[in-house]
Amino acid sequence: GASHSDSIKPAEHISTVERLREPVLLCKDIRQSFGGHPVLHGIDLRIGAGETYGLIGESGSGKSTLARIVTGLQAPVAGTVELLGQAAAARVERRKPVERRNVQMVFQSPDRTLNPRQRIGTILGRSLHRLAGLSRSARTQRVAELLQSVRLSTAFAERRPGALSGGQRQRAAIARAFSGTPKLVVLDEPTSALDVSVQATVLNLLNDLQRRDDTAYLFISHDLRVVRYMADRIGVLYRGRLVEEGSSDQIFQGPNHPYTAMLLAADN
Ligand code: ADP
Ligand code: MG
Repeated sequence: GASHSDSIKPAEHISTVERLREPVLLCKDIRQSFGGHPVLHGIDLRIGAGETYGLIGESGSGKSTLARIVTGLQAPVAGTVELLGQAAAARVERRKPVERRNVQMVFQSPDRTLNPRQRIGTILGRSLHRLAGLSRSARTQRVAELLQSVRLSTAFAERRPGALSGGQRQRAAIARAFSGTPKLVVLDEPTSALDVSVQATVLNLLNDLQRRDDTAYLFISHDLRVVRYMADRIGVLYRGRLVEEGSSDQIFQGPNHPYTAMLLAADN
């Protein structure tokens, strides 16, 4: 019936459309090393519009380093980052305003990025000014909308981060990341510091925001269950190399690389 054709799309069709679409993020041969010690060995990564790409791998494999390079918080030793088909400067300070707006990051803990002295309304308002160029009068309305979009009441605009729970703080950080309607949000262990009961709320919220704005996610987590729930495609990082990439089902049901199989087995 009609409901079937709505919900089930042939995979081949999706991939053809995806191939024609310009990728939101294209990493080419990204290399990083610290003090002569190589950490990333040439990463190629492509993320399409509205796609959730899950990045998994054990602690120390280089996930956060890659996240910082994508967002321009750190320059790689070699390789290029393209955003929406355009080569982006390595450092965020050198990126064009539109590129900065289009790529946002959410960290495991919002505590270091939300200024404890500012009210949530001020934090969101400043971001709206910086990323979206909104005037003071337009900001108040948008702050209320942003809070609503992460299911916080407008009363939270008056509160400082310290008065919020961990889950509420993370939702405020997510609201700020979405203030400039980004095309790509890099989420580095966004729910790992949260109580299990709060994790699902934040994950479902992320899914709702993604559907609304067709936002792509680079979703990093060591929690395989969370990645399986969120990701369309998954990449497996092992000692600075992407050893395997595939659809979520492919990775979880028939991993090709022995490291992936080991990672999945260790999780059971
Ligand atoms: P993951 O996020 O997968 O746990 P990271 O990207 O944080 O991994 O780290 C990868 C490796 O790079 C680790 O061995 C880590 O100690 C090292 N590393 C990361 N950042 C730095 C840095 N700024 N200086 C030196 N070593 C670093
Ligand atoms: Mg990390």
